Amino acid sequence: MKLLFVSTPVGPLGSGLGGGVELSLYNAAQEMLRRGHQLQVIAPVGSRNDLPVVQIPGNLQPIAQDQERIDPITMPENSLLANMWDYARQVQDQCDLIVNFAYDWLPFYLTPFFRCPIAHLVSMGSLSNALDQIIKQIVRQFPDTVAFRTKTQADTFAIEQQCTYLSNGIDLSLYNFCPISKQQLAWLGRISPEKGLEDAVAASQITNIPLKIMGKIQDDSYWEKIRQDYPNAPIEYLGFLSTNKLQEILRESRALLMTHRWVEAFGNVIIESLACGVPVISYSRGGPAEIVQDGKTGFLVEPDSVPGLVEAIARLDEIDRHTCRHQAETKYSVQALGDRFEKWFYQILKMRS
Ligand code: UDP
Repeated sequence: MKLLFVSTPVGPLGSGLGGGVELSLYNAAQEMLRRGHQLQVIAPVGSRNDLPVVQIPGNLQPIAQDQERIDPITMPENSLLANMWDYARQVQDQCDLIVNFAYDWLPFYLTPFFRCPIAHLVSMGSLSNALDQIIKQIVRQFPDTVAFRTKTQADTFAIEQQCTYLSNGIDLSLYNFCPISKQQLAWLGRISPEKGLEDAVAASQITNIPLKIMGKIQDDSYWEKIRQDYPNAPIEYLGFLSTNKLQEILRESRALLMTHRWVEAFGNVIIESLACGVPVISYSRGGPAEIVQDGKTGFLVEPDSVPGLVEAIARLDEIDRHTCRHQAETKYSVQALGDRFEKWFYQILKMRS
């Protein structure tokens, strides 16, 4: 296939601003190239260049999590999102399929105007009425072209038709299994209110087990408030790390804490943790509840319950770290991801031929 992947307009690929979408796109692109497909990626200026990327200029799109549900769609002057799709429009006849990774209204709206079919991978749960409406319209008009990460995520959109679910996958060779842990916990992700970092910090303070925090600070005032509220918690912020550095710290941890306040669509960091043999203690909310096997590869805890986190930390000896790695190997390899994507792409092309 000749594929064109369109990245998120909230930040360059590799910056961390795009969250899990960046790794998802990167892994899917690498695997499609390895399988012999032709591929080009459209991404913002400043993106990592170890993929065939066309870098597009323009002003970044505001992130969806900062908007209210009833807010109108926002488009900045010299919109990067619009510029990316203008480029896609110009090259569409050289592609079999365009794949949209952005959580934005415009690519859905543009879909009927393109000659080339467009597949959409929705990366977050429902946040905006306007976006919900256009997603539903495209699901009705072009069945099978819209995929979600997990059923729980798709359910937030109340879509009546049968949906496609594409759980993520990672290159397992990049994550080393570590059978023995240090006395430390890990927290990974964008530092932003919907990720609930303060609960992991509270659990670290109560148990007095050091917490290693890794990820992009997306909201400075939120991070400052956590530091002020928990001045004595044994936490250490290590910055936004590369996959290699991240797994070096993660794999030595007793557990990953996943303390999200929103319906997390999937949670890449969960499968990265399992790949290292590290159990995941997660709030039982959103996609993570479909991934973590309670009592086997981690614990699912009542959402927003710090005592629940503390109780689960006390039970970590019950988890066999080999079982965690095994779950990642059987379900979340990059090959499994490639199989899921290819099947979806061929299905869309069959429907359109
Ligand atoms: N991540 C990273 N370096 C860090 C911390 C996180 O590269 O120091 C990446 C991590 O590999 C994952 C992403 O950030 O791919 C977070 O994705 P997730 O799906 O967990 O959450 P999202 O940000 O999409 O809500």
